[in-house]
Amino acid sequence: MPTLAIHNPATGALIAELSADDAASVAAKTRAARAAQPAWRATPPSERRACIERFAASVGAEIETLAATLTSEMGKPVAQARNELKGLLGRIEFFLSAWPACVADETVFDEGGMSEVISHDPLGVVANISAWNYPYFVGGNVFVPALLTGNAVVYKPSEHATLTGQHIARLLHAAGVPTDVFTCLVGAGAVGRALLDQKVDGVFFTGSHATGVAIAQAVAPRLVKLQLELGGKDPSYVCDDANPVTAAGSLADGAMYNTGQSCCSVERIYVHEAIHDAFVDAFLKEVAGFKVGDPMDGVTYIGAITRAPQLEVLEAQVADAVARGAKLHCGGHRLPGPGNWFAPTVLTHVDHTMELMREESFGPVIGIQKVSSDAQALALMNDTRYGLTAGVYTPDEARARTLLAQVNSGSVYWNCCDRVSPRLPWSGYGDSGVGLTLSTYGIQTFTRPKAWHLRRG
Ligand code: NAD
Repeated sequence: MPTLAIHNPATGALIAELSADDAASVAAKTRAARAAQPAWRATPPSERRACIERFAASVGAEIETLAATLTSEMGKPVAQARNELKGLLGRIEFFLSAWPACVADETVFDEGGMSEVISHDPLGVVANISAWNYPYFVGGNVFVPALLTGNAVVYKPSEHATLTGQHIARLLHAAGVPTDVFTCLVGAGAVGRALLDQKVDGVFFTGSHATGVAIAQAVAPRLVKLQLELGGKDPSYVCDDANPVTAAGSLADGAMYNTGQSCCSVERIYVHEAIHDAFVDAFLKEVAGFKVGDPMDGVTYIGAITRAPQLEVLEAQVADAVARGAKLHCGGHRLPGPGNWFAPTVLTHVDHTMELMREESFGPVIGIQKVSSDAQALALMNDTRYGLTAGVYTPDEARARTLLAQVNSGSVYWNCCDRVSPRLPWSGYGDSGVGLTLSTYGIQTFTRPKAWHLRRG
């Protein structure tokens, strides 16, 4: 029987060893989900709603336990784990309020005895292969609307957030969702690959670009619905009329929150030369104030790096940047273990020849580049294969809107960053992905619109 060992990234300690799935158990669980889905679809919407309401209530009641588990398995500071759980409750509230109307039958034509109606069928069995960095957010974006709309979900949490996945399954089942309607698999990439071999009606993935491409290739011959929420290299531009101190406070948080391990973390900053030095001074002061340490301590702001191999990526990006002329102001190195630690790192004199400004860092590392015009900033913001989020800091709304309208990214921010709203669609251009979650579109995406042509008489 395969097993999955779970280590605390902050200490290196083994915290659990779980029995893992194999190809046979993945196949059996997916078949069971297929068998259970019609009854779930036929369950009155009021009962499906009640299950999700009970789930939300128990998440609220267990917030401390759930936050502690999340922190112990992926190293997120516990205050940020609590924030994520509270954020999940807000997202559930949105889904519950928006869901009935956006999937209600819609008569789009009714004349001369002929009616045309759109209804929304559930997809059926949905595979959700998920990431570890915000497991309640990226998981909840899928399983909450998928279950509400009558789908069964086979959920493959990240191997770095599996205890959290098991909590989610336990609470959903206790809330009344049948065990075969929501299944949590245990295992790493091989279990994800086994899930892709099953007969499913949709594959919803959150993770890296490389895995997203592998998944797209694996499911291509079967033509199932596919959504990929992938990485980012999210830029922000601070204009010459911005307040450098306010912008620095906002962007330091955007770059380092969740230890920089967010798809929408600020990953590149462009600052107009007129305020560049003042901005950098304020940014460094802000970063120096971030408390690095035990993620279980409620005042910690920067926790552990979840995946040990990422330390090498961060080191290599810093070394490459410095070799090409970047100035290292702080950090740039691992912190003493046990566990996986990297010091908050700020570099200036950076440019796009450097990996640091082109490839996702996914850590507490940021490059700040001086620019001399809006046109230069815009060209640099768009000089990327990704396109998840981008921001502009200026008091001038018209200037921000003009710039943001020309940025190729799914979300754009004026005087803010690293922000996700359940009311807005979450999607990316280019290598940031295909499809979307959140908003009413992110509910409808778990349904198949059906066209009814109805002639009376
Ligand atoms: P990852 O690609 O390493 O793993 C994601 C999931 O895929 C895991 O559950 C893993 O076990 C599984 N997997 C790995 N190989 C597989 C394969 N061949 N077939 C099927 N499943 C496979 O990503 P990660 O390290 O968990 O997450 C970090 C990445 O996720 C970052 O790039 C981040 O930007 C991205 N992300 C994007 C969003 C978004 O909304 N766009 C949100 C969060 C994270």
